[in-house]
Amino acid sequence: SVVTRFAPSPTGYLHVGGARTALYSWLHAQRHHGEFVLRIEDTDRERSTDEAVQAILDGMEWLGLEHTQGPYYQTQRFDRYKEVVAQLLEEGKAYRCYCSKERLDELREQQMTAKEKPRYDGKCRHLTKEQQDITQAHVIRFKNPQEGKVTWNDAVKGEITFANSELDDLIIARTDGTPTYNFTVVVDDWDMKITQVIRGDDHVNNTPRQINIFKALNATAPEYAHVPMILGDDGKKLSKRHGAVSVMQYRDDGYLPQAVLNYLIRLGWSHGDQEIFSLEEMKSLFDIHDINKAASAFNTDKLRWLNQHYIKTLPVKEVAAALQWHIDNLGLNLSEGPALELLIPLFSERVHTLKELAESIVYFYQDYQEFDAGAAKKHLRPVAKEPLELVASKLSELNEWTAASIQSAIDATAEQLSVGMGKVGMPLRVAVTGAGQSPNLDVTLLHIGQARCLERIRKALA
Ligand code: GLU
Repeated sequence: SVVTRFAPSPTGYLHVGGARTALYSWLHAQRHHGEFVLRIEDTDRERSTDEAVQAILDGMEWLGLEHTQGPYYQTQRFDRYKEVVAQLLEEGKAYRCYCSKERLDELREQQMTAKEKPRYDGKCRHLTKEQQDITQAHVIRFKNPQEGKVTWNDAVKGEITFANSELDDLIIARTDGTPTYNFTVVVDDWDMKITQVIRGDDHVNNTPRQINIFKALNATAPEYAHVPMILGDDGKKLSKRHGAVSVMQYRDDGYLPQAVLNYLIRLGWSHGDQEIFSLEEMKSLFDIHDINKAASAFNTDKLRWLNQHYIKTLPVKEVAAALQWHIDNLGLNLSEGPALELLIPLFSERVHTLKELAESIVYFYQDYQEFDAGAAKKHLRPVAKEPLELVASKLSELNEWTAASIQSAIDATAEQLSVGMGKVGMPLRVAVTGAGQSPNLDVTLLHIGQARCLERIRKALA
C-alpha cells in the first residue's frame, strides 16, 4: 500500500516549493488511500529551530495537508541510525576513515587543479583491523560500488542513470557519531516503508547515493518523483525577491487555503486546460506521472484570480470564517455592525483577497478617520451641500430602513433638485463611507445603519 512523506528541514518557514511537494505527496497518498508521513529532518541542529518546526506544522495545518503518521523527528532516531551504521560496518559495507581534514583539503585542491570532480579517493577503504586504531578520530563512510551504474525510472523525469565512478564513498556518520543527511533519509524511508518519494529536483544528485545504500541494506528503494523547481515571473529561481514565499504569508496577505492549493497543484501539473479543481477533483485526478518536466513560473495574477474565484464561490460562512483572522487583525468589533455574511456577497466582485475585503468593510463597523482626499475634493464640498442636506432630511424621515426605502429617498432627492442621480449619490457615498467607491448605495446605507449614516452626513456637512 502507498506511503508518501513530506520531509522538510526546519530551517525556515514552509515555502511555496515545499508546500507544493507536500501537496503532491499528500494527494498521491489520498488518491491511493495510503498513508502520509510528516518527518522533520532536524539533524542539522545548528540550523534547525523550534520556530521553524512550528511554522511548518502551522502551514501544513492551514493548507489542510493532514499527515496520518508522525511527525517523526530525526533527532529522536539517532539510536536507530547508529544501529544501521553498526550493521553496515559489520557487513563490510561501510568503513572507518581516519583521513585528517588537512589531507582531505589537500586532495580536494589537487583535484580542483587537475580539473577533476572533487571526491574521496578511498584511502581508508581497505584498511585491515590491524591497521586501525578506533580510538582515533574517524568518520564512517559508505562503501559505494566502484563499478557499474545506478539507474532509476523517475516518475517525472524518466530514466536517469549515474555511473558509480561519479559517486564517492559518502560519509554516513561524522566524527562525533552523528549521522548525515543522505543516510538518515534512507534509513527513514526504509523504516517508514515509503513507496513514493516526491521531492524537489535539487535532490536528483542525492538519489543514486541513496539507492546504493538501499541496495546495501537489501532493501527496495522507493519510486522517485523529482519535481522541477519554481521560477519567479522573471525566470529566476523563486525567492524572497519575488514577494511572499512563505505559505503563512499568503494567509496574512488574504489568500484562502483552497486558492493556494488550487494554485499549487496547477503550478507544475495540469489536466487539459482545466484551471479550477475542487479538492475531490484534485484527489481523483492528480497523478505523479503527469507532473510537468519543465520548471513552472510563479504568477501572482493567477493566484489572485483563483482567490477571487473562491471568495465568490465558497459558501459564504466559510469565507466569513477565514475572514475572521483579518477582522481581528484590524481590530474590528463585529458586534458594531452587520454580520460578515451580509457583506461578503457585496464585495466579492470587488476584491481579490480577504485582506482587501476586510479593509474594504471597516466603515461598517467604525467611523472612518478621513475622507479619501480625491473623492472628497471631487464630490463633497462645496457642491454637495444642497443634495446632502435634502437627502439627509428624507433619510431621517424613513420609518423603515430598507434598501427600497433608502433608494426612494435618493431618487426623490434627485428628482426634487432636478439633478442626475450621481449628483446626489456620489456626495452621499463619500459622506457615509469616506470613499469614492462602494457597493450599491441602498445596501451600503442599509448595512451601515440609519443613525450612523445620518451622523456621518451631518459631520460631512459641518
Ligand atoms: N529535508 C530535505 C529538504 O528539506 C528533503 C529530503 C527529501 O525529501 O528527501 O530539502
